[in-house]
Amino acid sequence: MGIIIDGKVLAEKKREDISRRAKAFADKYGRSPGLAVVLVGEDQASAVYVRNKKRACIQTGITSFDYHLDENTTQKEILALIDELNARDDVDGILVQLPLPSQLIEEEILVRIDPSKDVDGFHPYNLGRLLMGEPSLVPCTPTGIMYMLDEYGVDIDGKDAVIIGRSNIVGKPMAILLMMRHATITICHSHTKDLPARVKSADIVVAATGRPHMIKGGWIKDGAVVIDVGISRTESGLVGDVDFDEAINHASLITPVPGGVGPMTITMLLENTIVAAGSHVS
Ligand code: NDP
Repeated sequence: MGIIIDGKVLAEKKREDISRRAKAFADKYGRSPGLAVVLVGEDQASAVYVRNKKRACIQTGITSFDYHLDENTTQKEILALIDELNARDDVDGILVQLPLPSQLIEEEILVRIDPSKDVDGFHPYNLGRLLMGEPSLVPCTPTGIMYMLDEYGVDIDGKDAVIIGRSNIVGKPMAILLMMRHATITICHSHTKDLPARVKSADIVVAATGRPHMIKGGWIKDGAVVIDVGISRTESGLVGDVDFDEAINHASLITPVPGGVGPMTITMLLENTIVAAGSHVS
């Protein structure tokens, strides 16, 4: 029976460290690190995420500036807000909550954010730096997973890692971070042939598809580390991509959903805000 990785406990530990650094920053520079969160429209899930981010900021001594824009906000209006936030000295990080209403062009908005304030790590400049092996602001979910692996003492060097999902925000940066630590990477997606065999070959499995329970326990190699990023709302509540009840019988370590990767993702957003703040002072 595998050990369950407790994302809440790890997140709490990391947040204590962030609180200390936020206080030291405020003592030294006479202001707290600041995070601007932009929410457009009334999407319920987005509103919950934004509330959780705001709560986490308050808990750690980061000032959050909240912008809740109307559903019908135009591209010109949101770009003007981004320009204003880019110019402000008290705003270290800018987060635009996705998804955006259909009249808004996501790529143009994310590229408009000053890369030094891109705390989500989605700007091509920051993704490019990651690809070059010079990461600065890295997407929060993959960095949170690296933190979890390190805290649980997982030896990554030389291991076979299989990542299921190739999004810009999870799958691809995850692959690069694991490769930087000398894992051998396989990235799977919806065109991959014989996914069970790929998963079976992995010492480390990262599932990020958003397909509830599609990774079966029997696919997991005995002793593998299983990280479940997926979050799907079903009639029985929030579930991950991995059939947890079966997989735990094969894995050595496994993350639950909820309570695994999710709490770490928000925590790494705070970490990125502290890092960004450090780059804005001399
Ligand atoms: P995307 O929808 O952008 O990507 C999903 C990926 O899964 C795609 O690459 C897709 O392949 C692949 N995929 C879908 N179906 C299959 C299949 N049957 N077999 C193999 N691969 C498949 O999702 P995200 O990366 O944004 O998010 C993934 C999940 O993680 C979601 O549930 C999301 O809610 C969750 N999430 C959780 C976070 C957290 O903090 N816990 C943070 C971010 C995301 P293809 O490219 O071929 O279409």
